[in-house]
Amino acid sequence: MARVVVIGAGLAGLAAARELVDAGHAVTALDKGRSPGGRLATRRIGLARLDHGAQFFTVRTDAFAAFVQPHLDSGHVYEWCRGFSEVGDGHARFAARGGMNAWAKAIALGLDVRCGTLVFAIRPGNAASGAAWDVALDDGTSIPADALVVTCPLPQSYSLLVSAEVALPEELVRTEYDKTIALLMTLDSPPSVPEPGGLNNPTEVLSFVADNQRKGISDAPALTVHANAAWSDAHWNDPPDALMQALRDAAAHYVGGAFISESQLKKWRFATPRTLWPESCWVAAEAAGPLVLAGDAFAGPRVEGAALSGIAAARALIAS
Ligand SMILES: Cc1cc2nc3c(=O)[nH]c(=O)nc-3n(C[C@H](O)[C@H](O)[C@H](O)COP(=O)(O)OP(=O)(O)OC[C@H]3O[C@@H](n4cnc5c(N)ncnc54)[C@H](O)[C@@H]3O)c2cc1C
Repeated sequence: MARVVVIGAGLAGLAAARELVDAGHAVTALDKGRSPGGRLATRRIGLARLDHGAQFFTVRTDAFAAFVQPHLDSGHVYEWCRGFSEVGDGHARFAARGGMNAWAKAIALGLDVRCGTLVFAIRPGNAASGAAWDVALDDGTSIPADALVVTCPLPQSYSLLVSAEVALPEELVRTEYDKTIALLMTLDSPPSVPEPGGLNNPTEVLSFVADNQRKGISDAPALTVHANAAWSDAHWNDPPDALMQALRDAAAHYVGGAFISESQLKKWRFATPRTLWPESCWVAAEAAGPLVLAGDAFAGPRVEGAALSGIAAARALIAS
């Protein structure tokens, strides 16, 4: 049984941890966030609940269908709709009961996931620890590991690996991510988003609007809007008040006659990888010990891709 440390407890990290635990390994997943999930993120504002990262997911492969099925059976996820136009496109979009973050927490149940734990550096292990790797935390302590799965967005993974003596391919190092600026609004009455409560690319500024109540995750009227990559990049450094006003203006048609009780901004610096690595994960060939990189930059820039990459990383470790 190997001691495996998984860095990042987004969906890729959680899927990897689950697969490794099922194969009999001792796994600890570390995440700097307050809860697992990463971009599967949900915020509560009063009685409202709003997804502010991923809004839904699709299932395009048998492997992901097998991963999702137990969560459909348990009711943690459900089919939200079959497309966002009036007629739909026939393909199921799934959402999570209580929001995407609740699903991440359900996947994490029974795993050793340590949140609020910022990994500072990865170093080859030393004789004292007897491990291949030392995972240094920002509180000055470190965790020994026989093997590592690193699932942060690639620029973050790269900075952790500077002291690991691992040569990353140049294309991986140079992977860039689009940004997304999100505005979360609670309202005094339902917004004007038609059935099923979501719209793709509704304006020149917005890439998505979601009525969280109509989607089924919020007891109170609540609207999430995402600015598209070009707008988010152009306005990334604008003052928060200006951003809020601009996004409120962009969403005015969907707020409709409702009064905005509260609004909060969320800026995703690493929202979507612009390029994808051709394999589902990357295995370090020459390193102090087994080390695999995974995440949505490998198997697809979406929920499904993150899960498949995490599973692939775990299987690569198990096979090594
Ligand atoms: C605004 C937005 C909307 C989206 N909409 C959709 C959608 O509708 N449908 C869809 O399928 N996909 C969507 N996506 C994409 C989807 O959310 C991601 O592809 C997927 O969640 C990525 O999972 P991951 O595990 O690869 O990465 P992440 O979820 O980013 O997980 C990485 C984890 O690493 C942790 N971490 C980073 N650095 C450190 C460190 N030094 N120490 C410890 N922990 C660290 C982070 O806290 C994070 O939890 C959206 C993404 C965003 C941002």
